[in-house]
Amino acid sequence: MDHCHSDFYTIPWQDKWVIYKPQRQLAFIGNAALAKYILKRNHGATIKTDPEIEQFLERIGFDLPGLECPIPELESACSPAAAVLLMTNRCNLRCVYCYANAGEEPCLSDITWPAAKAAIDHVLENAERTGVTPSLTFHGGGEPTIHWELLTKAVIYARAAEPSTRVSMSSNGMWTESQRRFICRHFTNVSLSMDGLADVQNRQRPMADVSESAPTVAKSIRALDEAGIDYGIRMTVMPDSVGELAAGVKHICATTRTLAIQVEPTFTRCRGQYGDIDEDFAEDFAEHFMEAWRVGRSFNRQVYYSAARPWVIASTFCQAPLKAVVVTADGRLVTCFEVFSAASPLARGFTVGQVCDGQVKYDHAALQAFLDTQQSRRHECRDCFCYWHCCGDCATRRPGSRQESTGRCHVTRRITLMLLLEYIHEGGGVWMGLRKATAAFRPKRHPGAACETTPFESKL
Ligand code: SF4
Ligand code: SF4
Ligand code: SF4
Repeated sequence: MDHCHSDFYTIPWQDKWVIYKPQRQLAFIGNAALAKYILKRNHGATIKTDPEIEQFLERIGFDLPGLECPIPELESACSPAAAVLLMTNRCNLRCVYCYANAGEEPCLSDITWPAAKAAIDHVLENAERTGVTPSLTFHGGGEPTIHWELLTKAVIYARAAEPSTRVSMSSNGMWTESQRRFICRHFTNVSLSMDGLADVQNRQRPMADVSESAPTVAKSIRALDEAGIDYGIRMTVMPDSVGELAAGVKHICATTRTLAIQVEPTFTRCRGQYGDIDEDFAEDFAEHFMEAWRVGRSFNRQVYYSAARPWVIASTFCQAPLKAVVVTADGRLVTCFEVFSAASPLARGFTVGQVCDGQVKYDHAALQAFLDTQQSRRHECRDCFCYWHCCGDCATRRPGSRQESTGRCHVTRRITLMLLLEYIHEGGGVWMGLRKATAAFRPKRHPGAACETTPFESKL
């Protein structure tokens, strides 16, 4: 078990300790005597000063102040300049792990133009008032491009009102030629879900008629590459595909120009049902992730898993509740991109208002209650060395207590530790993230959000 000493952690590793001060981005390996010395020193206990250790600690800036990270206040922070439209629960794929059971829900649900327009107008106004560039993102509960007419209307409307509006979406890439042309012309960024090798993609992400999806997705990726669009690929890994993860990442690196590959273990038990992963899979995933991470490095690409991010110091896992107006297909305001409608198992605690009479109407008490719940979840994690990065994890991936997410926590802790060891090795024995930006390890983009898009990550 690692130990927390309020601002630094000692993590057992082999027969030694990783001594870790996250807010200073400092990590190094020490023996038990060094760990004990620093622990006593930190507690102000009387110790016989060791000049050699003291010199070392001074040289690495051990006692300098760490990065601060205040908890955002609702009153001052809630002026979102980002509209996120959860477009539909229809889908042309039947991914075996789909959290929304898209395409198979009994009630079809498509966002309406008045709801979409109200969200866009609201964020454009906020953006103008605050001087922030507005953004418009299309997300799921289904495949956004299925609701194509509304999607194109929303893009054209937002861009006509404010030409600098950034447009992005999370998509499965099952696009027609004319859709590819529109996306390549108008989108700033795309997060494209694709599971690596064609066999894995076809097995995990079949079309509704069970035919193969890989060839169409490959065409869409080629179109993005040719148009020079900024896009990332998002892979989901299941217990029976974890052995093919590194090969999948290699395939993506060799055949696409994407710079960022997000890799996540599945977080559902089956279609439409969230669930933790078991510890065997968690261990396998972490090992194979690091193999894939090294493959990515050899191609100069960033491979990342959302909750393992030692370069981030944050007070919340995700900033979507304060930075985005997230509107469901049935016109609710929610705090998460995955809470797609009233049918979502998480709808109740995540609903913080609604769109009515063409206006965005927040229930500020509900939003504050949601934020308070996130801080209580985070509070449970004070003794975990991932506390400052994972912050209690994504609200949907770890909806309950920490004890109910042992698989997911194992993945986060294991990968974070292995990344720290890589950083220490690269730094010649000490990781000093604040002093020397270890460029090779810092992501080109700041990854973070667990869902299939990355604009609302908590940043340093
Ligand atoms: S995971 Fe995405 S692409 Fe797959 S079925 Fe669900 S909504 Fe469709
Ligand atoms: S990171 Fe988690 S909580 Fe935030 S929007 Fe994505 S799925 Fe929802
Ligand atoms: S959710 Fe798990 S991994 Fe994340 S900070 Fe809490 S205990 Fe650590």
